[in-house]
Amino acid sequence: MNEILKNDLEQFSSILEEIQKDSISFLNAINEIPTSHRDQNTDSYQLKDNGLGASGALGFFNENFRKLMVSSAGPRYWGYVVGGVTPAALAGDWLTSVFDQNTQSTQGNGDISAILELQTIKLVTELVGLPDHFNGGFVSGATMSNFTCLGVARQWAGAHLGKDIARDGMSDEIIVLAATPHSSVVKSLSMLGFGSNNIVKIKTEQGRERIDLVDLEQKLIAYSGKSVILNCSGGTVNTVDFDNFRAITDLKKKYPFWMHVDAAFGAFAACSDNHLHLLNDWVNADSITIDCHKWMNVPYDSAIFLTRKEHQKFQIQTFQNSNAPYLGNPEDNFSYLNFLPENSRRFRALPAWFSLVAYGKNGFKWIVENSVHCATLLKTYLQNSAFLELSGSVHLNVVCFVLKDKNKTSEFLNILNTRGKVFMTPTVLDGKLCIRAAFVNFRTSKEDIDIAIQEMEEVLKML
Ligand SMILES: *Cc1c(COP(=O)(O)O)cnc(C)c1O
Repeated sequence: MNEILKNDLEQFSSILEEIQKDSISFLNAINEIPTSHRDQNTDSYQLKDNGLGASGALGFFNENFRKLMVSSAGPRYWGYVVGGVTPAALAGDWLTSVFDQNTQSTQGNGDISAILELQTIKLVTELVGLPDHFNGGFVSGATMSNFTCLGVARQWAGAHLGKDIARDGMSDEIIVLAATPHSSVVKSLSMLGFGSNNIVKIKTEQGRERIDLVDLEQKLIAYSGKSVILNCSGGTVNTVDFDNFRAITDLKKKYPFWMHVDAAFGAFAACSDNHLHLLNDWVNADSITIDCHKWMNVPYDSAIFLTRKEHQKFQIQTFQNSNAPYLGNPEDNFSYLNFLPENSRRFRALPAWFSLVAYGKNGFKWIVENSVHCATLLKTYLQNSAFLELSGSVHLNVVCFVLKDKNKTSEFLNILNTRGKVFMTPTVLDGKLCIRAAFVNFRTSKEDIDIAIQEMEEVLKML
C-alpha cells in the first residue's frame, strides 16, 4: 500500500477524532459564523506527487478555506429555501459515507440499503399523510425529483398516443401546462426534450400564484386529443401558494391528464393540523416532488420523488438500464437501477431515516409551526415599519418585502447580506423586484428575528 494511505489507515481513529472536534467547534459557533463573506479570495492547492495525508489535508483546508464557510445551516440564512441539519440527520449522513453502500436492488444483492430506502419512502409518505399507493426513491434534490417525475409522465403521455418515447424519441403531441412552475421544472423540460419554451402557461387567479381553474379547463378542452401533463404547485417559492388540488382532481375525472405536484417544501405543511388543508386531495396526484434538504432539515443532497405504483411500468420503461443483461430483468427484480436516473448511488435515505426515527411526527410538526411562527413575526414587523412594506401575501413560511423607497431595495439587500448576520435573496413578484426571506431551519427562533430586525434598522440608517 502507498505509504501515506497506509499511515492514514493506521491513524483512522485519530483522524475521525480530529474531524469530530472540528465539527463540534463549527456547530457550536454556528449562530455567530457569518452568513456570507466579503472576501472570497483563496489560494488553490497545487497537486503534488506526494499527498499530505488526511490530517495534512484538514490542516490545509482549515488554514485556507474553513474561515470562508458560511452558516447556511445556521438560524439566519433565509435565502432560497435552505434547511439546516438536525443532529440525527448528521448522524445518518456521516454513517452513509462510513457504510458506503451502493444502493440499488432489493433482492439478490445481499445488501439491505435499498430495502431500507423503500421503508424510508414509506415513512416520509406517512409523515405527510399520503397513502400506500405511491412508490419512490431518493435523488439529489427537487430538481432531479421533478426531472424523474416528468420523465415518467412523458412515458405515460406517449403511451396515450401509442408511442414509446423512451425508445423512439420525443413527440410534439405532448403538452405541458403550468401556471407558476419552479425554475427547475422548466430546466427539467429542457433536459427531457420538451423544450423549455414549450410550456403552455395557464393564468393564475387574480392576485395569487395558483392556477386559474377556468383557464385550466379551457386549455384542457383546447388540447383534447393531445396528451397533457399538468404541473401543479404545492407551495410556490414566493408566496407559498398551493393549487386547488380538489378542483384539479375533479377536472382530472373529466379530462385525462398527468397531475404532477411539485411540493418541494410545501409537502411538510401536512405535518401540522393548522396547514394540512392546503394539501387537500393532493393524494390524487400521479407524481409528487418532496425535498428533504429543505424543511426536513436533512443535509444536502436529499429529495424524494413519488409516483403511483400503477405507473411503475412507465417508470421502468423510462429508466431501465436495459443493455446490461447481468443486472437481471427489471420487471421481476425491483431495483433502483431501473427506477431513476442514476446507476451507482449512495445510501441517500439514511439521514432521512435517522431523522424520522429520531423526531417522529411531533418533531416535524414543531419545525413547521415554528417556521410559520417566525415568518409571522417578520410579517408583523414589516406591517408596522415606516420604511419597509410587505409584497404579496404570506400564506405560510416565506415573506417578501420591499423598501417603500423602491429604488433602494437592491442596495439595502446588498448591504444587509454583506454584513453577514442574516442572508436573504432577491426575487421577482408580479414583475417587481423584492426581497425574500424563507423560514425552514429548525434553529431559527424569535431571538434571530430580533437580531435580523436590528440589522435591517441599522442598514436603513446607512442608505
Ligand atoms: C427548491 C425547489 C425546487 C428545486 O429543488 P432543489 O432541491 O434545489 O433541486 C423545486 N421546486 C420547488 C417548489 C422548490 O422550492
